[in-house]
Order: sequence, then C-alpha cells, then structure tokens
Amino acid sequence: TRLPESERKKRPKVVILGTGWGSLCFLRKLHTDLFDVTIISPRNYFLFTPLLVGGTTGTVEVRSIMEPIRKYCKRADAEDATFYEAECLSVDPVSKKVKCYDNSAVKGEVSEFELEYDHLIVGVGADNQTFGIPGVKENACFLKEINDTRNIRDKIIDCLETASYPGQPEKEIDRLLNFVVVGGGPSGVEFTAELNDFLQSDLLKTYPLAKRINVTLVEALPHILTIFDKKIIDHVEKRLQSSNNTKIWTKTAVVGVREKEITVKNTTTKEESIHPYGLLVWATGNTPRKITTQIMQSIGPNIQNNRRGLVVDDYFRVAGTDGIWSIGDASINPSKPLAQTAQVASQQGRYLGRLFNQLAEEMNNDLIKKRENPDAHKEEKEKQQEKLNLFNSITGSNKSFEEAVKEKPLFKYKHMGTLAYVGDHQAVAEFKGDHSTTVSEGYITYYLWRSVYFTKLLSVRNRALVSFDWLKSSVFGRDISRG
Ligand code: FAD
Ligand code: NAD
Repeated sequence: TRLPESERKKRPKVVILGTGWGSLCFLRKLHTDLFDVTIISPRNYFLFTPLLVGGTTGTVEVRSIMEPIRKYCKRADAEDATFYEAECLSVDPVSKKVKCYDNSAVKGEVSEFELEYDHLIVGVGADNQTFGIPGVKENACFLKEINDTRNIRDKIIDCLETASYPGQPEKEIDRLLNFVVVGGGPSGVEFTAELNDFLQSDLLKTYPLAKRINVTLVEALPHILTIFDKKIIDHVEKRLQSSNNTKIWTKTAVVGVREKEITVKNTTTKEESIHPYGLLVWATGNTPRKITTQIMQSIGPNIQNNRRGLVVDDYFRVAGTDGIWSIGDASINPSKPLAQTAQVASQQGRYLGRLFNQLAEEMNNDLIKKRENPDAHKEEKEKQQEKLNLFNSITGSNKSFEEAVKEKPLFKYKHMGTLAYVGDHQAVAEFKGDHSTTVSEGYITYYLWRSVYFTKLLSVRNRALVSFDWLKSSVFGRDISRG
C-alpha cells in the first residue's frame, strides 16, 4: 500500500523512538496515511514486560512474550511504516534531526545514519537505576530485557552445577547458593516469588544441594512493595518469609558490589557488613536513558530539570521544543505525575495517536471546506499539498496548536488496578476507587492476574504460546538445562 516515494516525502515525517509499550500503542492508533512514519529502536520486537520475570525460571519462554515490530509496520488498509533497527544516539531539536547507530553484531558499510523529522515521539523507556554504586553494572544481573532473563536463568543453574563439584569447599558452596535480590519493589518481589517457585517445584527435586539455596531480598525502606496498601505489604512479607529458603532484609541498603560479595548498610544503625553471593539480581527502579539525558541537555537545565525524565505538558509535548513529544517511562508531566508502568505508557501512546489523527483530519477537512477554487484538477493538487503541510502548520511554531487542541479532551489516566505475582499460585491486587481501596490476595487473585495479563497479550500467537508454556511448566516442570 505504499505511495510513490515522491508523495511519501511530502507528508509530515513522524519518527518514533522505541518499540515498547508507549511507542507501539501510538503506532497502532496512528493513521499512517496521514504521515510518513519511521520507527527506530535497537530492539526489532515489542516485549510484554509483565510476564518477563517468568522467563528467568522458564515458567514462560521468552519468545512467547515477544512480538516482531515489523508485523505492526505493515498495514493492510493504509500506508506501511518503516522500521530501522538502530539506537538513537542524539537528537538535534534545532535542525530537527536524529542521529542513529547500528549497535547490533552485524554491521554493514553503513552503520550510522541521520534522519529528519517534523514530529519526534520519544518512547525510549528508562534505564536501570544503579545510583552510581561501584561494581553493580559489572557484576549484577538486571530485570529489564530479554537477555537479562536468559542471563539469570543460566546463572541459577550454573551456580548449582558449580556448587556440585567434587571437593568444592563448604564455604564456597554456601556462597554460590546465596542468591541476593536488591530492591523490594514489584520487580524484585515478583522475581523472588518466581525463584522460590522454581526452587520448590523443580530444583529441590533434581539438585541435592538445592536445599542449601538461600534467597535474600534486600530493601532500603522499612517495607517492601511500598506502592501497595499496608494489608498487602503484611501479607506478602509473611508469605515470602514463610519459605525456609527466603529472607527479607528491610532497612538495609546495598552500598557496594564486588565480584563475589556485597556490602550492605543498615539504614538505622549505619552499620556495614559484607555478604558473599553467587547470584545478584538488581531491581532498584528506573533512571533516564542516555538519549533522554542528551535531549534534556540540548534543551537546557532551566527547562528540563526533572530527575525522572523529559518534562512534558498536558499534550505530551516536550517543554522547550518544537515537534518533540514523549510518552511512557521516558517522560513526566510534573503537574500530573504518574507511575512508570505499562498501563500508563500504553494509555498515553493511544491518546497521542488519537490526538495526531484528530488534528490532522480536522484541519484537513477545514481546509477542504474553505477552498474556493473550482478548478478540480488544481484543487486536487492543492488539497494534497495542504494535507501534507497541515499537521506541521498546526503544531509548528505559529502557535495555532493551542487553538487546535482547545476543544480536544485532555489525557485522562484510567487506573485499572495494580497486580503482582507473589509466588505459589498467589497474587495480590489493589483497586483504588475515588473514595475507597479494594485489596485482594490469594489463589483467586492469581487467576485474575493470569487472566488480565493473558488478555493483554498482543496477539493470538502470544496467547497460544504463553498458554502452552504455562501448561508445559505445570505438567512437566521447568527446564533446568543450561544454555
Ligand atoms: P519500554 O516498554 O521500556 O520501551 C522502550 C523502547 O525504547 C524499547 O523498545 C527500547 O529498545 C527502545 N530504546 C531504548 N533506547 C533507545 C534509543 N536510544 N533509541 C531508540 N530506541 C530506544 N508495568 C505494568 O503496568 N504492569 C506490570 O505488571 C509490569 N511489570 C513489569 C515487570 C518488569 C520486569 C519490568 C522491568 C517492568 C514492568 N512494568 C510493568 C513496567 C513497564 O514495563 C514499563 O513501565 C513500560 O515498559 C514503559 O513503557 P515505555 O514504552 O515507556 O518503555
Ligand atoms: P521500584 O522503584 O518500584 O522499587 C525499587 C526499590 O528498590 C525501592 O523500594 C527502593 O527503596 C529499593 N532500593 C533502591 N536502592 C536500593 C539499595 N541500594 N539497596 C536496597 N534497596 C534499594 O522499582 P522496580 O520494582 O524495578 O519497578 C520499576 C517500575 O516498574 C515501577 O514503576 C513499577 O511500578 C513498575 N513495575 C510494575 C509491576 C507490576 O505492576 N506488577 C511489576 C514490575 C515493575
């Protein structure tokens, strides 16, 4: 359904950075006939993050929660979008250009390119927060990308195999089987729960040494899962600690990491101690990505000075720029801050896609109505030309954007509740109404958790694969082979 290149070039150029929740939801809503759309991301797939933790133990296989982005670039009824697998290195908000680089293993003669945009959608998500603690990046595993899950799965088994060597000293066995999870937010808690399931259902059956595995969840605050209601926090803390192999250390911050040991500090007594580990999983939240910081710096610290990311207005326009928009974990509207979740990013992406379509279509209709020239052929040409320019004109620097969006509904976030898996076929859920909060926990909530995420999976293919993985791991157990 491609227009000739010459026609394509005339339409407003929309460049989307990222293939995550925000960007994909924006792309799926966008009428690609109205724009010349290009997506740039180092990942040529969308990743369904809510089930990512299951990939660390093999409850689900990671390919089951990935979706090729090119599938969404192809449109049966409209113009296709273009995809380039590359990392955006820098954005020049003045010349309106992005510079990109091929960071994959296979490189051709061309491995860098520049692209012009009229509108840039920054949906690059966030990076792992390490607070600059030395040794974290070099020694810890993270919980963000597909490779992280492969890495963790591999390391769990490697620790057990190495601990089983003949003549391995007792002290070294204890170290290898000491698994530390840093950060008691939802990522750290869900991982601890998955790890415990893996241990109880699979590892204990096959590895004689598995009973010596110790899992420690380390949290700097007095409690884990602080985004949840107190009742849920109590329930989860009790649940996790009811397993003989799992401990929670609250009011304890990890302050140093070396290859085989961590230093922790009690936040009350300020006492420090050293603990050996075999596996270290780091889940202490988000920080802006390098590209986000570069964009912020190019705008200047007077305008872009929020530690969470790009400051945007009610329409997700990046403050201090013309034609840059940002959604999801990469941005924040300081007057209405929201959590960094898939729920938020996807709703923002859908809203912005709709806004782009509405503005472009409405302005186009107005122009057609206003046209007086009876010459049909000439009119057709003009119409085309005006259509091509209209979106830029309303969102450009001529200030008519405010007028154009005056009657448009503002983005309204609809919170559908927060769910988290806490192990052994149990989950917790919190639904906040205007006047009350409903909390629920246990087996029924677990089925709710599964059904919600199952229905949110993007494609029938994903759903079929995930159902099969769940069935496979519950009937045959999780695969314990390495590699
Ligand atoms: P992302 O989905 O992270 O996508 C960012 C995209 O940008 C990626 O495609 C990335 O490759 C790309 N990118 C990065 N750098 C560049 C660059 N330089 N140039 C171009 N592209 C780039 N939220 C929930 O609501 N419910 C949950 O149950 C839940 N579970 C989670 C579990 C885990 C383990 C994690 C890590 C997160 C979870 N979240 C959950 C949070 C949710 O995943 C994020 O809030 C969401 O992914 C943010 O969407 P995004 O579009 O902003 O970024
Ligand atoms: P988080 O920011 O929610 O939690 C990180 C935790 O690490 C905090 O409690 C913090 O006190 C602790 N911490 C920080 N530094 C520490 C240190 N040095 N030592 C010990 N503890 C330390 O991060 P997350 O769990 O990675 O989640 C990131 C985002 O993804 C959040 O917005 C979260 O809501 C979202 N998410 C949601 C779900 C879900 O809805 N089920 C699941 C995973 C992630």
